[in-house]
Amino acid sequence: MRLILFGPPGAGKGTQAKRLETLHGLKQLSTGDMLRSAVDSGSALGLKIKDIMASGELVSDDIMCQLIELRIRQDDCENGFILDGFPRTTAQAEALDAMLAKNDMQLDHVIELVVDEEELFKRLRSRIEESGDTVRSDDNEETFKHRLQVYKNQTAPVLPFYTDKGLVRQIDGMKPVDAVASEIDATLGLSAAA
Ligand code: AMP
Repeated sequence: MRLILFGPPGAGKGTQAKRLETLHGLKQLSTGDMLRSAVDSGSALGLKIKDIMASGELVSDDIMCQLIELRIRQDDCENGFILDGFPRTTAQAEALDAMLAKNDMQLDHVIELVVDEEELFKRLRSRIEESGDTVRSDDNEETFKHRLQVYKNQTAPVLPFYTDKGLVRQIDGMKPVDAVASEIDATLGLSAAA
């Protein structure tokens, strides 16, 4: 099964993707995590994208599409994968379509986690409190506001592309983590014990 977890920053995509990976053997492909490891490793790519990420802007479509195309072909994606944080622009969605077709793959579902802004800021504040000194460089109120704006301007407009294909399922992401997880399982036709 191949799916996209869609939603604003802090909606719970990473948490739900990790659970799906552990319980159902689908590989989590978090572009944010991939980019953060590149920054931490100090690689040429990392140096190039460090400031972009810290500002809450998007890394270029070219870089992102190359990263994902290399990744989805690897053996650990054979049972399926969860795209967490990709695509974030219409150009990325179109490129994804082309690379899936080229690799004889199909997208099964797009799960949209719906969470209101007040709750997103509440979650941000508790992440900041819990992380202390290890807080992400883009997890502060100012940058978070910008990330939300980028989501509204560039990422939310991607949804109709998938709605038109009949792939989008909305899930209430305001509920507790376990309730959201159960709804996702039910939507995907997965049993919780699988
Ligand atoms: P995330 O952990 O998904 O919130 O991503 C953190 C940051 O990584 C974003 O604010 C962007 O700077 C960058 N990023 C992650 N995924 C993408 C993507 N698909 N396209 C462009 N930039 C991305």
